[in-house]
Amino acid sequence: MDGHLQLMFRVSTWYLLLCATTEWIISVSATATSHPPRADISACKLAANNDVYLSAGFGYELNCAPSTGTLNAFMIFVDFADEPAIETPQSLHDFFLPAAAEWYATSSYGALTLDVTADTSRFYRMPAAASSYGWARGLSYETHQKYIQDALDAYNATIPPTDVLYVVPTANAASISFSPTFMGDVQTRAGVYVAKKSVTFGLDAYKTWKYLVLNHETGHTMCLPDYYPFNGSATGLFIGGWDLMGLISGPSPDYFAWDKWRLGWLSDEQINCVAESGSTTHTLTPLEEAGGSKAVVIKHNGTNVLVAELRSASDLDSASCSTGVLLYTVSTTTATGEGPVRVLDATPGSSGCAGDKLNDAVLSLAGTSEYTVSGWGIKVTVLSESSDGTEIKVDVS
Ligand SMILES: [Zn+2]
Repeated sequence: MDGHLQLMFRVSTWYLLLCATTEWIISVSATATSHPPRADISACKLAANNDVYLSAGFGYELNCAPSTGTLNAFMIFVDFADEPAIETPQSLHDFFLPAAAEWYATSSYGALTLDVTADTSRFYRMPAAASSYGWARGLSYETHQKYIQDALDAYNATIPPTDVLYVVPTANAASISFSPTFMGDVQTRAGVYVAKKSVTFGLDAYKTWKYLVLNHETGHTMCLPDYYPFNGSATGLFIGGWDLMGLISGPSPDYFAWDKWRLGWLSDEQINCVAESGSTTHTLTPLEEAGGSKAVVIKHNGTNVLVAELRSASDLDSASCSTGVLLYTVSTTTATGEGPVRVLDATPGSSGCAGDKLNDAVLSLAGTSEYTVSGWGIKVTVLSESSDGTEIKVDVS
């Protein structure tokens, strides 16, 4: 070190010492105005509105299947006189499992085990023709319940009480065209309790969605809403392909951090809550990987939050076509199918990727690095990106 550098070192040391008191005073006054303390996490845990069907808040009550620990399910296989089985029950079991269970193990970071007991001994013949069950007209609660109770009649053996009953039809049953979830208690016609919910699979599983339809429908058993629009608009209208409660075959099917928090897969310590005006900085780590901070939740009011999470092209989202900070709003007063979660398009000028304008909606230093939520007085800015995570700044006016 030569004399010149030593002098500079001494000068700068003195400078820091001399200024320390002043800086301390400045930072104290700034704390009150632009660096609010981290909000109590409960401020961001919007309560569900139980009058709103499948409200996306905390504590929604509909005898929901467990989302942590073990979700027990029982799987039976059915066929029909007009559309008889052309395969083995085991082959259909293997179509769904273990892939769907592994999906939950990964998405929940090990918090949820899907334990399916399957009777693969045979197909149980339904008492009526497949074409008689009304799938082509759409199902009501009553017609869906009739199908399930017919399956239980056909099974004609005791099923130990379980969380979810899976009814799997032969892939030859073209009449059973889609895969709805029955959200009421499942009982036999004799009134014997079987399960909290039932998922009855259909041809769309085999033809279009593959095993992920089980993860979508079982999401409903845990009381997650549909994120695609019920009004016939494009499936990706509200959230693109970012969560399989929207488009099942989307490029980024992992559940949103908001729902992982609600389901108990993310702890309070992994969420940063912003509930006051000011400027704060936060580090996000990829949602797809276990551990670290996963979301910043910015409270707008008692029923709406903005969420920022970091999505990467890894694990369950390995087919993702863009990566960065994903922003979306959550409304607890918006029912399933009406857009309770809406992804904000930070790149409105682009045409998107993987077939949807919202699939590249993310903020990143390589693209658009800041976004202002109009009408909410919230701005999110990406400050830095590294292997340790992405740092963002949240300004709330
Ligand atoms: Zn659904």
